[in-house]
Amino acid sequence: METKNWIGGEWMKPNGGEVIIHNPSNLEEEVGVLYCSTEDDVRQAGEAAKRAAKSWGRLSGSARGELLYTIADTLQHQLEEVATLASREMGKPITEMKMEVMRGVQLLRYYAGEGVRTNGSIIPSAQPDTLQYSKRVPLGVVGLITPWNFPVAIPIWKLAPALICGNTVIWKPAEYASLTATKLAQIFAEAGLPDGVLNLVIGKGRVIGNILVEELEIDAISFTGSTAVGKQIAAKCAKRNIKYQTEMGGKNAAIVCRDANLDETVPILLSGAFRSAGQKCTATSRVIVDKAIWEPFLWAIRKGMSSVKLSNALDPQAYLGPVASKDQYHTVQSFVDLARKDAEIVVEGTINQKEDGYYIPPIVVKGVDANHTLVQDEIFGPFISLLPAENFEEAIDLCNRSIYGLSASIFTQNLNHAFRFLEEAEAGMVRVNQETAGVEYQAPFGGMKMSSSHTREQGTAALDFYTQIKTCAIRY
Ligand code: NAD
Repeated sequence: METKNWIGGEWMKPNGGEVIIHNPSNLEEEVGVLYCSTEDDVRQAGEAAKRAAKSWGRLSGSARGELLYTIADTLQHQLEEVATLASREMGKPITEMKMEVMRGVQLLRYYAGEGVRTNGSIIPSAQPDTLQYSKRVPLGVVGLITPWNFPVAIPIWKLAPALICGNTVIWKPAEYASLTATKLAQIFAEAGLPDGVLNLVIGKGRVIGNILVEELEIDAISFTGSTAVGKQIAAKCAKRNIKYQTEMGGKNAAIVCRDANLDETVPILLSGAFRSAGQKCTATSRVIVDKAIWEPFLWAIRKGMSSVKLSNALDPQAYLGPVASKDQYHTVQSFVDLARKDAEIVVEGTINQKEDGYYIPPIVVKGVDANHTLVQDEIFGPFISLLPAENFEEAIDLCNRSIYGLSASIFTQNLNHAFRFLEEAEAGMVRVNQETAGVEYQAPFGGMKMSSSHTREQGTAALDFYTQIKTCAIRY
């Protein structure tokens, strides 16, 4: 397969260079070719989106919703194909990838329904014979910049609300998810989305991303990716006074209290930390354990690791596959090397396949203090640091000792501790006896502190981002 840009309804092969994509589960296998866009391609996409904005914005919500339903059906028919492609492109286990595509289908249907729901309110006027009301209107043209770790769900949780709200889009996916992005755009085209409503430009973030954010006539940017890039984008958008949303990194903590049921807790913790090879912004990476249960907990986590199978992402039994790319491999491996030097290894997984790929065995470490790089930096790999806590108060303090604030969990049977955690944990998504990952599509998604720029995605929160409010008044 080859990537293509989709601009103004035309499929184009850009000429800014090419990159061969190898399967991270089996480096001998070529999955396809990525053709990089030039700055001019982005400019063309900007013009196409601008041209299409008026007619798309004026279409009824119901008509836009019908198109999203058709896209959902088209995607569902090709679920297997899309999931397999994504799994081969970025290494997410096929079973998880199928669930992710299904989530994309659900998101499309959820936002399709928004086309016929209330989008404003009547506000009583102090004047006689006056109708005063508010109404959400489209922003215009929005730029979407997406990461590789959820190659289907994250683009769709931006595209679906952006489109239903009447915006046209320029979408720049991550390099390591560009084949999947091309396939998704083909599905949108097949379903009959009008020309120029969605424009896909593929290539390097620092080349085309910059033009998109700094130069194009756009009305908003929704970005998901690293905190380093997100902060730059936020500053550029603030300077231009355009709306922005930056969903960024995490270093998510799970607290295990002395009354936690370890048989139930450990499988949930391992799933939160190691599925998708720990490459979720909401992955559990710090586990804070009450000292009273430290030894039984170590025993339980060593035992639990026996069910964690690392193998080729296309193996339906794979618990986790490889990390997504060579860059990821070297970054995560450097943290593992640091752990071998500075920490004690509690348990480490093994690799269960023969091919050469970017495999990093899942690892649990202890013996580093709360300010250590391993505990403070986002590793974005299958890595857990364990921290002991004297009591509940210290556990909360450790949980909050991070520049990030995306998600956090507590495992307890104590209602008082559960509620205090929900109140006191500094994170946008807080959960009791559940993974730090896995927030449902109809609920707001986003973080506090350096994890997010204070807006939320998913659910009705996304409608706030992709619209602006007009206050209307009429004297009759
Ligand atoms: P990244 O920041 O390297 O890239 C994200 C996107 O930004 C890519 O499309 C990339 O090409 C583009 N980009 C890079 N430089 C750019 C620039 N100068 N201008 C414009 N665009 C540019 O992140 P990544 O490695 O793709 O993804 C991993 C990161 O994403 C992790 O930090 C993870 O926590 C985060 N993430 C956050 C969430 C969330 O909702 N909070 C969800 C998933 C991933």
